[in-house]
Amino acid sequence: MEIKEFYDYNKEIAKFKVAYALVEWDMRTKMPPKAAMDRAEVAGKLARTIFDMGTSPKMATFVEYFNRPKINEKLSEVDRRNVYLVTKEYRRVSSIPPDEFEKFTIACSKGENVWQEAKVESNFAKFKPYLEEIVGYLKKFVEYYGYEENKYDALLEDYEPSMTTKDLKKIIDELKAELVPFIKDLTSKGKAPDTSILKGNFDKASQERLSHEVLSAMTYDFNGGRIDETAHPFTIGMGVGDVRVTTNYHVDDMTSALFSTMHEGGHALYEQGVSEAYKLMPIYNGASMGIHESQSRTWENLVGRSRSFWKFFFPKLQNIFPQFKGVPLEKFYRAINLTKPSLIRIESDEVTYNLHIMIRFEMEEALINDKIKVADLPEVWNEKVKQYLGIDVPDNAHGVLQDVHWSGGQIGYFPSYMLGNLYASQFFFTAKKEIPNLEEEIENGNLKVLREWQREKIHKFGALYDPKDLLIKVTGEPLSHKFFMNYVKEKFSEIYF
Ligand code: ZN
Repeated sequence: MEIKEFYDYNKEIAKFKVAYALVEWDMRTKMPPKAAMDRAEVAGKLARTIFDMGTSPKMATFVEYFNRPKINEKLSEVDRRNVYLVTKEYRRVSSIPPDEFEKFTIACSKGENVWQEAKVESNFAKFKPYLEEIVGYLKKFVEYYGYEENKYDALLEDYEPSMTTKDLKKIIDELKAELVPFIKDLTSKGKAPDTSILKGNFDKASQERLSHEVLSAMTYDFNGGRIDETAHPFTIGMGVGDVRVTTNYHVDDMTSALFSTMHEGGHALYEQGVSEAYKLMPIYNGASMGIHESQSRTWENLVGRSRSFWKFFFPKLQNIFPQFKGVPLEKFYRAINLTKPSLIRIESDEVTYNLHIMIRFEMEEALINDKIKVADLPEVWNEKVKQYLGIDVPDNAHGVLQDVHWSGGQIGYFPSYMLGNLYASQFFFTAKKEIPNLEEEIENGNLKVLREWQREKIHKFGALYDPKDLLIKVTGEPLSHKFFMNYVKEKFSEIYF
């Protein structure tokens, strides 16, 4: 059997995935509401086709053949990695009995619908039976997937390959020990910046111009993508030459769309930078959710909320929104860097964000290991928010019901957000070391220098390496919380003290 046959078959699957992505993008941006029910069936059919092809007897033959030691050792690095990724996915998906998988998929889509209502009504009891069903399935899947030390490892693997619960706990403990007292110092002894200048009326058309301008500055390729509006911003790749970003405009707050555009733009630069030689291969992808998030956070925070970037970009903002013409740059820089413990994860700042993730990780890990029940979640949530963030949760809508992830069966996803913040600081530290005048380049608007560094060190490899190995390859050391802590301490001490 030739490796070409393996690729031909997998490229067929990849083409269905591109079609699925296009349907998904349309459903979340441009689709007329009347099409919702029928289009869901189209999406369902495509998903089923992808599932069937991925678990077919033909696929089983490829997996068996190319994993034979004598065959496998002769493969090139790229071929071996593609075989590895396909094998892993095949074993995971085919370990679940198809009817159970289908029931789980239905439970998740019902769960998402009920969650939306339950959130509006702040009614956890309404969502509880659905979440119990979803968690029930996940606990079964964990046994099918298998794990060595902790059941939660089996779920983490989907989002952050080779990360373990044990490693995660260690890094969280180290981070928590420094971050919690630092936030306490900032909020009790520091002087919070004045954010009143950010209030105003910002028409949508001008915000659209701003989004275009910032993406262009980031060297996002508009010939290989586009930007549209959506309720919950996301980035979606549809193969070579089509990586789309979305954003969400608020007329009373221009920072929301601006930073979410930079965030999604960071994801998009990653996807636009994967080597074209990997087109339609399993490695034509990001290394992990956490590595992906590190690229978005770099542009949103390490660049987007830096003084150097605003030295370059503030005049552009002032041109689009003349109300900023009398505002000193320094005042603006401080205003976009307010840090404040708050209830909602997606609205939290770069210093307090990781605490929101720690809360969710600890609860998920306890849930999957039967240390707590679904019924306990609201109470545990509120206790942890009080303990970590020092605030009272007024109702479940602002607490345990705020995120969509659990309703869609995505348990194990949250840690990627925190890992993204940590990876981002560690990568950026290396970038600054390797490009000594990086800040000056950013001040001059030469953002391509950073983009090129990311492309050469991270983007072009796609999913060729596990995140752990990629991090060491780029930065020379394993994951450490110290890069993030040093970054926030230096930056926010200067702003607050
Ligand atoms: Zn993201």
